[in-house]
Amino acid sequence: VSARRPRVVLVQPRLNMPWVFASAAEAGFDLVVVPRPGDDLSDPPAPVVGVLELDTGDPEAAIAGLRAAHARRPFQGIATFFEAAVPFTALAARELGLPGLPVSVAAAVRDKSAMRMVWTAAGLHSPRFRTITSPRRWSEALDLRFPVVVKPANGFSSIAVSKVDDPAHLELAVVAAWDLTRRQLGGIDAVVVEEFLTGPEYAVEAMGHRGETRICTIGYKGEPQGPYFEEGVYQAPADLPAAAVAAIEREVSAALAAIGVEDGPSHTELRLVDGVPHVLETGARIGGSGVSSYLAKEVAGVDLVADALRVAVGAVPHSHLRPIVARGAAANYIVPCGGQGVIAAVDGLDEVAAHPDVDHVVQMLGPGDTVRPYPDFSGYPAFVLSRHADAKAAVAFHEQLPAMVRISYTEEGA
Ligand code: ADP
Ligand code: CA
Ligand code: CA
Ligand code: CA
Ligand code: CA
Repeated sequence: VSARRPRVVLVQPRLNMPWVFASAAEAGFDLVVVPRPGDDLSDPPAPVVGVLELDTGDPEAAIAGLRAAHARRPFQGIATFFEAAVPFTALAARELGLPGLPVSVAAAVRDKSAMRMVWTAAGLHSPRFRTITSPRRWSEALDLRFPVVVKPANGFSSIAVSKVDDPAHLELAVVAAWDLTRRQLGGIDAVVVEEFLTGPEYAVEAMGHRGETRICTIGYKGEPQGPYFEEGVYQAPADLPAAAVAAIEREVSAALAAIGVEDGPSHTELRLVDGVPHVLETGARIGGSGVSSYLAKEVAGVDLVADALRVAVGAVPHSHLRPIVARGAAANYIVPCGGQGVIAAVDGLDEVAAHPDVDHVVQMLGPGDTVRPYPDFSGYPAFVLSRHADAKAAVAFHEQLPAMVRISYTEEGA
């Protein structure tokens, strides 16, 4: 056994999730953080031993920077929990000779058109869809059954995702999604239009090891109706009959195998349509940039952060060494923006944090920050992470929160 703690480069973590860093420290890792632009790492949390300022928007230069640091003092792995950084992290792993997702797989999980094609070809349950490669070609989706969902192939956080009920509104929705994505994400190659799936939504946190998938938790995400898809609740474990759980486990494992996510964490979203799981998309990362690690630990005793770092250094994730045993319920409440404009105040979060069931309140927006409404996205106001005896208690707790937290604006939106 080496006395050295393995060093892992963590690309663009959210710094305001203390449990992520606590898990890494407890599992015996040292972290070298590549910060997001504007992040303040002057007083980094343990176990951060180094900071590498790299512009991941210029992958060649960023990888040259990583190489130089690796030559001075080698890393044993590189990982990210941030959706947008998955392709860069895969490329960097390959270039440095470290374990990682194949670059082609990292590209596929960032492309909703590629996911749809792979899953349809693999015979998985999938809505009918069209890939629109120029806004002028919007009418290629007119033969779908409405309502449909319009979304950028490379999107995340529901940016530019909208439901369209009427074919007469399709052109406008495609053009709007195209323009918004180009402005917000710096580029777009395609918009996916797919038939709207009616049914409750679930998120599945899984851990892969050499092509074998362990399902760690299944959480209930409500039944979003649109037309825009602001994040709301995440309550785990979902209250589902054993047959539905088994069907979800089969479908998600098959979806991950088909797209090639064989190792490491994944966050898969699906809807149950007449009880049949239809996968919406998957991400090759921990859900919520690390939020799901808190949830999976409380619900299933699985430490996704520790396991993701183990996979990053080529070790066996503990979720594959012992059976996963249900042990409780946990939840995330995403405080709704409840308006738009410049935030004047966010009230009630202290009271919420003092609640005995609440472990963490992560506030991301505050006074002076500007909220642009969906389908645009300017960040989540706050996450409330709580732990409960069972899923029913989580639901009851969430019902209290709208009355407890209030965001007020200096400028009223339209
Ligand atoms: P993103 O990567 O931006 O999160 P998603 O494909 O997950 O994009 O879409 C965001 C949300 O929009 C989903 O969580 C879901 O609620 C809704 N949605 C997307 N596609 C569909 C669909 N085909 N049917 C029903 N709802 C959908
Ligand atoms: Ca999603
Ligand atoms: Ca996504
Ligand atoms: Ca979502
Ligand atoms: Ca508390």
